[in-house]
Amino acid sequence: MAVFYIVATPIGNLGDFSPRAIEVLKSVDYIACEDTRTSGKLLKAFEINKPTFSFHQHNEHQKVEHVLNILRGGQSVALISDAGIPGISDPGFLAVRAVKQLGIDVSVIPGPDAATTALVASGLPSDRYCFEGFLPPKKGRQKKLAQLVEEERTIIFYESPHRIVKLLKELEEHFGGNRLAAVARELTKKFEEVKRGSIFELRKEFENRDAIKGEIAVVVAGKGYKE
Ligand code: SAM
Repeated sequence: MAVFYIVATPIGNLGDFSPRAIEVLKSVDYIACEDTRTSGKLLKAFEINKPTFSFHQHNEHQKVEHVLNILRGGQSVALISDAGIPGISDPGFLAVRAVKQLGIDVSVIPGPDAATTALVASGLPSDRYCFEGFLPPKKGRQKKLAQLVEEERTIIFYESPHRIVKLLKELEEHFGGNRLAAVARELTKKFEEVKRGSIFELRKEFENRDAIKGEIAVVVAGKGYKE
């Protein structure tokens, strides 16, 4: 039956792959993967043997058509990304929009995502938050940060390990060193670490490290939050 599934995969810990996610991936006709090699290892580990094709940000427009053609033919497709939930700082939105416009069912199989895991782990207010994902690497970056200074909700960013110190310096410039924040690294993995403190303290801590590795999400308290 033609259904487009969006399936969450673990953000590090394979134990977080849900039984329902595995069941759906074993049942579909095709699996669209952000990276067929990365997902190939996961699929093999769970004995999921279905035809895969690549679906990433550089071929997304063209591959949406491919997905639509499969669905028009009455077959099902699941989309997975390298980690976490597709559509969150990963391809997914364009395909979901197109499938819904065709009037075909979209079914999301939820699961781990780094943003809400980092938010809850940060111990910063989680009743209202905004997700900024990756800031633009160059053009528009400072403008975006300046716009966020007045934000009262907790803010979540994704950042690469080689730019984390740069981001902490920028946050200190824009938000001030006293603002509370947390750096969540390698969530759900063996070397998981969640450092919480003022932006000043976090900048000092990470600046003094020889090498920073792994995947990182940064959570910043909203304007006016005090403890
Ligand atoms: N779709 C994913 C999700 O649901 O979270 C996000 C994909 S995005 C391309 C990858 C970024 O998410 C990483 O660069 C990092 O900022 C964040 N991330 C992913 N896994 C993480 C982890 N285990 N710990 C901390 N951050 C993580």
